[in-house]
Amino acid sequence: MASNYDVVVIGSGPAGYVAAIRAAQLGFSTACVEKWLNKDGKTVFGGTCLNVGCIPSKALLDSTHKFIEARDHFDAHGISTGKVALDVPAMIARKDQVVTQLTGGISGLFAANKVTGIGGTAKVVGPNTVSVTDHEGKETTIEAKYILLAAGSIPIDIPPTPVDQETIVDSTGALEFSAVPKRLGVIGAGVIGLELGSVWARLGAEVTVLEAMDSFLPATDRQVAKEAQKILTKQGLDIKLGARVTGSKISGKGTKKSVTVEFTDGEGDKTQTFDKLIVAVGRRPFTQNLVDESVGIELDERGFVKVNDQCATSVPSIFAIGDAVRGPMLAHKGSEEGVMVVERLAGKQTQMNYELIPSVIYTHPEIANLMQLHKKAKAAGDHKTASHIIKKLQNKVTSHIVNTDYKRKFSGVAREQIERIPGFKSFSEAKGHFRPTEKGAGMTKKGVEAHRRENPGSKLQTAVTKKPSEMDPDSKDAKRRKSFCARSKGWTGERGKAARARWNC
Ligand SMILES: Cc1cc2nc3c(=O)[nH]c(=O)nc-3n(C[C@H](O)[C@H](O)[C@H](O)COP(=O)(O)OP(=O)(O)OC[C@H]3O[C@@H](n4cnc5c(N)ncnc54)[C@H](O)[C@@H]3O)c2cc1C
Repeated sequence: MASNYDVVVIGSGPAGYVAAIRAAQLGFSTACVEKWLNKDGKTVFGGTCLNVGCIPSKALLDSTHKFIEARDHFDAHGISTGKVALDVPAMIARKDQVVTQLTGGISGLFAANKVTGIGGTAKVVGPNTVSVTDHEGKETTIEAKYILLAAGSIPIDIPPTPVDQETIVDSTGALEFSAVPKRLGVIGAGVIGLELGSVWARLGAEVTVLEAMDSFLPATDRQVAKEAQKILTKQGLDIKLGARVTGSKISGKGTKKSVTVEFTDGEGDKTQTFDKLIVAVGRRPFTQNLVDESVGIELDERGFVKVNDQCATSVPSIFAIGDAVRGPMLAHKGSEEGVMVVERLAGKQTQMNYELIPSVIYTHPEIANLMQLHKKAKAAGDHKTASHIIKKLQNKVTSHIVNTDYKRKFSGVAREQIERIPGFKSFSEAKGHFRPTEKGAGMTKKGVEAHRRENPGSKLQTAVTKKPSEMDPDSKDAKRRKSFCARSKGWTGERGKAARARWNC
């Protein structure tokens, strides 16, 4: 017999689980289907991000950063530690524990918010029908008013270096090394390659990064990218640009296995041998077999589900969010899309602001990317703002040299500009918690006004600028407005009247 829900979400990564919880909070009966199994063969929620992505990589970056601090920098503070050593299996075990704790947290959140978590592989077989095959092969059917596709992405494999998860690994395998490889190759100088390369370089691996493009971090401000390249090189990453990998050969046995990589660069054909090789050339949407052809969902040539700005597909009851659709593959982008979709289903006006989705590369120093804002300021001829951003970011990049109080410096990065990011919530080390929705949450009134001045036509709103009809009556904003209007009833002076008008009293 089919079970019925208002909303069924396929995939429980940061896009899917956030959407499911928000849907349930808004009163929809909600189920979330997940096929991921943990090492014990049990269904686990959290997707790529929590299991093999953001969280475990940040756990390892945190451990190895602490190791470097203790080994190389404590002395200068008068702290003596004796010989500092690192136990790799213990570091990996801690990372696993962090993952278990956080993925378990999602099960708890599902229970608390009355989301039904279902283990199994889902396939959309009709505009309102999902077929789920559990891990024993049993098939059930779910009927739902709305279906959200949040199937995420998987690493891209390239023919010259087929991944065996032993000698040639992808990002998942690179989180599991049981010892520090002496010679480590990384294909791809993107976020994942640089973060994972840094982890192992900090522990003593000789790391070579092979990047096919001629430019380093092309989407990042040029001055920041140049500075970052210098610092990462100093930390032991040998970054070879314009190096296109053409082949590889594994030799040796057991722990003596190695891989010889062939590549061409400006000087001609070359080879280099590594003990381990990480392939980090990007990710692709995980959308194969997700929807039956008869349903009529369109995929683009790279496999992304085609959606509009509100994440609607060509089928009115089906939406798609997160890494499975266009846009940057970032956890917070997927989460915000999930919130937008279900809030709109509940009749709210929520809209993503795709113009400003900040990203961070969690190397040391971390590289914050506010490129869109920077580009926009420059295009508008506001060179002062543009150079200010560059200068501030550059300060951040070099801050570890001049100022060991790195955290404080980081939170001071282009504060004024960051304030203008719609819905900016927090911008602090190792949090990566940006809220790019067009809601103005967490912004000061001054920040909103500055943003609106710089972005004519922006619909950015805060508690003060929203119309009462656009507010959720139970929201904090609505309550604040109600209380202000009651308090200010007798205000007849010019300023009082203006304030009441601003709050739409
Ligand atoms: C090493 C690494 C580090 C990263 N670091 C960061 C970071 O610091 N910050 C950041 O913002 N992003 C980071 N990312 C990217 C981030 O992980 C993704 O952007 C994010 O996980 C996308 O979320 P999602 O919900 O769209 O998809 P996913 O997290 O991929 O989740 C999709 C889920 O859907 C499930 N699924 C797929 N098909 C089906 C089906 N048919 N039936 C049932 N279930 C299905 C999958 O099993 C999976 O659990 C990192 C990624 C990697 C690999």
